[in-house]
Amino acid sequence: MSTYRLMMGLALGSSLLFACNNQEEKTEATDEFKVVADEFADIQVLRYRIPGFDSLTLQQKELLYYLSEAAAAGRDIIWDQNYKYNLLVRKTLEGIVAHYEGERSGAQWVAFMEYTKRVWFSNGIHHHYSMRKLQPGFDAAYFATLVNGSAKAEFPRMAGSIDNNEQLLAFLQPILFDPNVAAKRVNQDAGVDLITSSANNFYEGVTQAEVEAFYAKQKVKDDPTPIWYGLNSKVVKENGKLVEKTWKSGGMYGTAIDKIVYWLQKAITVAENDKQKTALELLVKYYQSGDLRDWDAYNIAWVADTESMIDVVNGFIEVYGDPLGMKASYESVVSVRDMVATRRIKAIGDEAQWFEDNSPILPEHKKKEVKGISAKVITVVQESGDAAPATPIGINLPNADWIRKDFGSKSVSLGNIVYAYNEVASKGSAIEEFAWDQAQIDRSRKFGALAGDLHTDLHEVIGHASGQLNPGIGTPKETLKQYASTLEEARADLVALYFILDPKLVELGVMPSLEVGKAEYDGYIRNGLMLQLRRLEEGDNLEESHMRNRQLNAGWAYEKGLANKVIEKKVRDGKTYFVINDYEALRELFGQLLREIQRIKSEGDFAAGAALVENYGVKVDQALLKEVKARYAKIGSKPYSGFIQPKLVPVYEGEKLVDVKVEYPDNFTEQMLEFGKKNAHLPVVN
Ligand code: ZN
Repeated sequence: MSTYRLMMGLALGSSLLFACNNQEEKTEATDEFKVVADEFADIQVLRYRIPGFDSLTLQQKELLYYLSEAAAAGRDIIWDQNYKYNLLVRKTLEGIVAHYEGERSGAQWVAFMEYTKRVWFSNGIHHHYSMRKLQPGFDAAYFATLVNGSAKAEFPRMAGSIDNNEQLLAFLQPILFDPNVAAKRVNQDAGVDLITSSANNFYEGVTQAEVEAFYAKQKVKDDPTPIWYGLNSKVVKENGKLVEKTWKSGGMYGTAIDKIVYWLQKAITVAENDKQKTALELLVKYYQSGDLRDWDAYNIAWVADTESMIDVVNGFIEVYGDPLGMKASYESVVSVRDMVATRRIKAIGDEAQWFEDNSPILPEHKKKEVKGISAKVITVVQESGDAAPATPIGINLPNADWIRKDFGSKSVSLGNIVYAYNEVASKGSAIEEFAWDQAQIDRSRKFGALAGDLHTDLHEVIGHASGQLNPGIGTPKETLKQYASTLEEARADLVALYFILDPKLVELGVMPSLEVGKAEYDGYIRNGLMLQLRRLEEGDNLEESHMRNRQLNAGWAYEKGLANKVIEKKVRDGKTYFVINDYEALRELFGQLLREIQRIKSEGDFAAGAALVENYGVKVDQALLKEVKARYAKIGSKPYSGFIQPKLVPVYEGEKLVDVKVEYPDNFTEQMLEFGKKNAHLPVVN
């Protein structure tokens, strides 16, 4: 898994959270910064800051500005990739928002604006998470009123098929209002043609079987350095034959790619060092050639650049949007290294051997020589494409296995993004709703963010890297099969949980007291036994491996500690709470479970692993699920979040760029309209 995403309100000072100590102080001073900018449907739109931007050198700021422009220049690509007529829909909606002269109030107008914002948020007409088509809360007649009442709008046209508003409305009618047309962007259902039943724009006029045969023919057998077949192209049928339309300069999306290249070439002139310069040059070369060997060369150079302060992800990267996992979506993340938070990770990584030696796992399962994974925390400056407005909180790239094995990879946490999530979570009312008493609330407010950071550091840097397999045992995927990833995530979480209550961390100077560990325990138990259920629908059981792992760890500890009331289930005013009575005893239980799961992994004990997951990690208490959803609904907390991007404003003296200022826009609608205009580098249909 190369990017991980977080949904708001889930975290509450528990796992997968990063924040930076240096920012903590900043907030005190500038408490005015409003993190939540907008709310609609199931979404909240947040803002993030770029701490330390002003103290960067002019050259660094200039580089960030060019990379941010390069990121934004490709924005329209993701819209077209998500669905062939997304740009047509968006331009129509934006024409109305900018120019409608009629009454801008009433239920239908409100529904229209909500729909438009949801489309902006999803980069298209399908929900960004569920992949289902968004249903407008207004009707086709009202939509016609809006279009016809926006005389000054330049609505999109398609020569020969859409020459006037009437034809535009007729064309869009089924796309917007017929739930059976383009119903799902990515369809993963078993037993159907995944390509013809998915609405994305990666394939057209071809079946799954045809595509699979097309690529099977191309693959070189036993190639130790295979390209990622099909990564950067659309497959269509021409004269009865399948062909690839490659996304490159002069090819499909060429006009937008040329803009990306334009800004990357400017970035090259102010690169920090030769390694970074080489990497950027190779990226340009790839965009120009469309050759996937050039893409591999770029990735190898990018992985080698570990010194630079500034970094960028830009390209066709993740393949979640293609049910066959071949075609990649455009995304970009521009960042600066967070020195303080990266030091914290390093402090832990440097002690990897101590953690291994002091782990509760059996001696024969300990590594004699353990190396922590190197990781860094970044401060995000700009995101675009598939990484915006909804964003990952961590990125682990490149995706090609052979490059990872031979050249390494970068594990990156998006520090200021997680910090913004934390700010909302700590101010939000979810903690008050679900915490048992004021002590828990205070602990979460004070230490929850740091606890989340440390949990993730320990999980990533120590957890996954620890332990060893018995000689002659196959890989966990071979021995533990479908339970392998849940058990592996559980194991890494348990390493984190065991050590986060260890005085060693206080000694290392990465946390002030064991209260941080207690805050993490509170949050983990609350989330694992209760809060995460909000993501499910009634009747569901757990499927996703991280969710399974959390319930497994929390549920096992709850049951084993029942006799001694280590964790106590309490009910007050009809509401359920989980309260930890004995933190040290809970730590011991986490240690026991860690020892057992490590044994299962080391020995490849499928039966024991399957029993653990099935008994503790799958089945959901439906009454509790119902209660959790109702309590969340009452406090109006939104399950999905995304971000408004900061704006980098260049200051010129004549031709010369003399400074770059950063502004923090706070109006989602305005930013979307601005982006729509400024980054319009593609024809309306591609
Ligand atoms: Zn993990």
